[in-house]
Amino acid sequence: MSLLVVGSVAFDSVETPVDKIDKALGGSATYCSVASSYFSNDVKMVGVVGEDFGEQNIQMLKKHKIDISGLDIVNGEKTFSYGCVYRDDMNVRDTLFTDLNVFEKFDPIIPEAMRGIPYVLLGNIMPSLQLKVLDQMTNVKFSVCDTMNLWIDITREDLFKVIKRVNLLVINDSEAKMLADEGNLIKAAKKVTAMGPEYLIIKKGEHGALLFGEGKMFSAPAYPLETVFDPTGAGDSFAGGFFGHLTNADEISFETMKKSIIYGSTLASFCVEKFSTKGIENLSKETIEKRFNEFIELSRVE
Ligand code: AMP
Repeated sequence: MSLLVVGSVAFDSVETPVDKIDKALGGSATYCSVASSYFSNDVKMVGVVGEDFGEQNIQMLKKHKIDISGLDIVNGEKTFSYGCVYRDDMNVRDTLFTDLNVFEKFDPIIPEAMRGIPYVLLGNIMPSLQLKVLDQMTNVKFSVCDTMNLWIDITREDLFKVIKRVNLLVINDSEAKMLADEGNLIKAAKKVTAMGPEYLIIKKGEHGALLFGEGKMFSAPAYPLETVFDPTGAGDSFAGGFFGHLTNADEISFETMKKSIIYGSTLASFCVEKFSTKGIENLSKETIEKRFNEFIELSRVE
C-alpha cells in the first residue's frame, strides 16, 4: 500500500549527557520515512532541502526504496537546521536554535500522481502546512498527524483544524496535557479525542504509549534500555513504524493498531540507541521481529 509522508528534513545538532553530534541528518519526515520503509515498499516522501543536503543522504533514502521525487532540492539555499540539548533526564530537551532556512518558504505541493494515496502521515511541521497537504489529497483512507509543543503554543487554532480532520493524532504526554489544559492524562485523552480524531496515541517516552479509540484503551510498554544515546527522532520513528505496519496490514482496527504500536515502539527503541538516523538505517526484518517478540514477552501473562 502506498504511504505518503510529509514533514521536515533537517540537519540536527544534538547534545546528550552521553555525547554530541553536529549537523547530522534528521527531521520528522526523514525518521518517519525510514522507519515505515521496513513495512511498506511504497513510501513517498515530500519535503524540502537546500543544496547542502548531500548525495550521501539522498543515497541512504534511496537505499530504503523511499520515493523522493517529491523532495524539493532548492539551489542556493540551506537545509532546515535544528539544535537541542538534553538534560540528565533525557525526557526533557531544550531547543538551542531553529534555523528555518529553506523551510521558511516551504509550500508543500503534492505531486499530481501522489494526491490519490490512501494513507497519509503528517510528520511534525507547522499545522498550516499540514492543512495544505490535506486539502490536496483526494482519496484519504486514513491520516495520522504528529505535532510538537511549539505549535500548541503559537499556532493552536490551526492545530485544532488539523486535529479535527485527521483520523489519528500522535502526541506525547506533556503535549496532551497542554493541548487539553488538563493535568490528568486520561481526562486529557478524553478531551483531545472530543476535538475530532477517532484514535489517539499518547507517547510516554521511556514509559511506553497509550492507544485510545473505539471506546477502548491499550497500554504498550517501552523497551527497557540501559543506555539511551540520543532520543531525537524517537517519536517520528515510532510514528513511522506504527503507520508502516498499519498500512501494510491495510486493515484499520483497534486490534491491528495494538500490534502497530508495538512495531512503532520497536523502531523507536532502535532509534535511541545511536545518534541521528544511524539506529534505524541498517535494520533487518529479523532484527525487528526479534525485538518485537521481546516486547510481547515483556508483559505477557499466562
Ligand atoms: P522527535 O524527537 O521525534 O520529536 O523529532 C525530532 C525531529 O524534529 C528532529 O530531527 C528535528 O529536526 C525536527 N524538528 C525540530 N523542530 C522542528 C520544527 N519546528 N518543525 C519541524 N521539525 C522540527
